Amino acid sequence: MDKEIYCQLGLDKRVLDLGDEVIKEIRDSFDRIDEIAEYNQAKVLKAMQDNKVDTSCLTGTNGYGHDDIGRDTLEAVYASCFNAEAALVRPHLTCGTHALAVALSANLLPGDEMLSPVGKPYDTLEEVIGIKDCACSLKEYGVTYRQVDLLPDGSFDYGGIKEAINEKTKLIEIQRSKGYQMRPTFSVEQIGELISFIKKIKPDVIVMVDNCYGEFTEIIEPTEVGADMIVGSLIKNPGGGLAPTGGYIAGKKECIDRCHYRLSAPGVGQDVGASLHIMGSLYQGFFLAPTVVAGALKGAVFAAGIYEKLGFNVLPGLGETRHDIIQSIELGSAEAMKAFCLGIQAAAPIDSYIAPVPSPIPGYSDEVIMAVGAFVQGSSIELSADGPIREPYAIYFQGGLTWAHAKLGVLMSVQKLLEKDLVKI
Ligand SMILES: *Cc1c(COP(=O)(O)O)cnc(C)c1O
Repeated sequence: MDKEIYCQLGLDKRVLDLGDEVIKEIRDSFDRIDEIAEYNQAKVLKAMQDNKVDTSCLTGTNGYGHDDIGRDTLEAVYASCFNAEAALVRPHLTCGTHALAVALSANLLPGDEMLSPVGKPYDTLEEVIGIKDCACSLKEYGVTYRQVDLLPDGSFDYGGIKEAINEKTKLIEIQRSKGYQMRPTFSVEQIGELISFIKKIKPDVIVMVDNCYGEFTEIIEPTEVGADMIVGSLIKNPGGGLAPTGGYIAGKKECIDRCHYRLSAPGVGQDVGASLHIMGSLYQGFFLAPTVVAGALKGAVFAAGIYEKLGFNVLPGLGETRHDIIQSIELGSAEAMKAFCLGIQAAAPIDSYIAPVPSPIPGYSDEVIMAVGAFVQGSSIELSADGPIREPYAIYFQGGLTWAHAKLGVLMSVQKLLEKDLVKI
């Protein structure tokens, strides 16, 4: 095909040829990704039809938001799709961290203990839990925390987990995605095995899964293998790129009711919360999410292929199955992380002329560099890359509302590394 437009965007022929070469090697995994998307499209469609989503659901309410049928039906749709008893899906959940904090603080009381059996949780949870001191942390409210690290090969330390569960253990948090770590992301099947192990030891413990970045990458979600709650952000996978803000928690009714009370107020709970005018975007985004996630997954596979060829350590590797949309690439230096982000930013539809620089971000201990030129500020289902400036200088690449755009982003990242002499082609 005519390559002129790509040259006009600033891509070198060597980079385009490398891309063409990699594409040939990854067609099979694209077929698998499309199959998963088709299945999940059917799942979402059925959930919408079963709950009789109609035109009135797409309007919205203001004020208290009493009898907001759009909001209540959307919560039912999420619950059905994820095979959960109930869900809380709200624009008032400001981000993923907030949704996780609500789920935790609603279900842990003074004297209870929380356990992470998969090592250190996501960076922003350190203040929420109180691993790092912060006002209003769970620790301040008398909730203790325990952690069992993964074994050196990335597997669960079943012996250690058994030992750590005690009479105080009330809630166990499993983070599905790797976050800013170089460990594998867990499959839903693996999470299910861990949950059955835990429930054999303590049947009444609440298992909560941080599901961020995992939704629709497989045909089942952790609620379908025994998780009592799953939690995620609407400016990641399930928002499909259209949700302008929000988060969700889905799971056992008993747990979700408490989350409603925590988010609004005891007694008031689920009955309030005006959805204003964003319901249409939340529904349409959820409807598109399986396809958008598929595009992002293809971009991640493509990035793995290209950077593996260029000699970098990539996680997951090209041939590995995927359980989230994140591709980490060990770039080895702050310089290379900056060049990579410059490329992703240069491929963005918004703010493409900006050069990302590392900066401190609330909730993170190292400086973080972020490239995101998105329609929704900070949205990481859109083409984006980020990472803390620390060893092993790994960049976490994700998103792309369409596969075509994700591909352009990856090619542009290579272009910037090439221009700065940080790779040889
Ligand atoms: C994104 C993410 C979160 C929450 O982050 P926010 O930026 O607050 O939305 C939590 N856990 C994991 C694994 C994540 O990827």
